Amino acid sequence: MDLFDYQPSQDTAPSLDLSIVVPLYNEEESLPELQAWIQRVMQQHGFTYEIIFVNDGSTDNSWAVIERLSAEHPEVKGIKFRRNYGKSPALFCGFRRAQGDVVITMDADLQDSPDEIPELRRMIVEDGYDVVSGWKQKRYDPLSKTIPTKLFNATARRVSGIHNLHDFNCGLKAYRREVIKNIEVYGEMHRYIPYLAKNAGFTKIGEKVVHHQARKYGSTKFGLDRFVNGYLDLMTLWFLSRFGQKPMHVFGLGGSLMFLIGFIAAIVVGASKLIALSRGIPARLVTDNPYFFIALTMMLLGTQLFVAGFLGDLISRNSDQRNNYQIEKEI
Ligand code: UDP
Ligand code: MG
Repeated sequence: MDLFDYQPSQDTAPSLDLSIVVPLYNEEESLPELQAWIQRVMQQHGFTYEIIFVNDGSTDNSWAVIERLSAEHPEVKGIKFRRNYGKSPALFCGFRRAQGDVVITMDADLQDSPDEIPELRRMIVEDGYDVVSGWKQKRYDPLSKTIPTKLFNATARRVSGIHNLHDFNCGLKAYRREVIKNIEVYGEMHRYIPYLAKNAGFTKIGEKVVHHQARKYGSTKFGLDRFVNGYLDLMTLWFLSRFGQKPMHVFGLGGSLMFLIGFIAAIVVGASKLIALSRGIPARLVTDNPYFFIALTMMLLGTQLFVAGFLGDLISRNSDQRNNYQIEKEI
């Protein structure tokens, strides 16, 4: 890092009890109600707080509503993406801005209840949790969503090794500030933030049953493809957490093994030809020998895997572009 680029850390800013980060895409009807509800809960408990609305390229009037709310209430802040990037990039940018000691994420659609916030905060501050995830034990969603979700959560539990979470994808979660400042949510990884946190070394992960309500306005922004993408992301994360810093360890091992098998097969081919010749037996053509093809394939595959490993290593060192988003405005 260039010495002149050095910026004092954000910790010098006055700290708040809570940051509430709300990613949203076309939720204009819900926002005023959500803001009023959060404000009510915060005032009841005497918390200092900020609400960070991250407008993920909405095509309705959401941004105008946020501007109005922000003018009326100094706690309301906004980030406006130039286009729709997805929930994870929205969370990422909200996290970067958040100053609260405890950071809450919640959906904008009023399915999550702000009344849960004080208890979630208490679990972080008093019980010492790094992350507390909401569990929508009783859901108000169609069956087509709840059944695949059960399966999805079972897989996520196994793969991530976080056995006490029932509901990875719940939008309502609470984090100690260090957690969100030290993880990088990108792509569609918002489903696995507890796993990201665990991989970053924050292992005290808890759960709280939360109330869930049917969507009041608008419709869901995710279709059934969420399950396919969800599994693919889970595989990526598993791979990243095992080998992310060292892809060569997987590919290199596979590649070396293949190459070795191929090499031995090549020796068998060559030797059998030489032995045949030395005994004066009419020797088979090398290409008539099945070992020849094994040798060929294995050595090719081995080399390919090796190269994939090297490329993986190079890429993992150079991906600083991953979190560049076009932010149009901030208030
Ligand atoms: N969302 C977003 N960007 C998107 C899709 C969704 O910011 O591209 C927000 C959405 O506005 C809501 C939250 O993410 O606040 C959860 O979305 P939704 O309620 O549609 O998901 P579901 O409850 O059906 O899982
Ligand atoms: Mg919802």
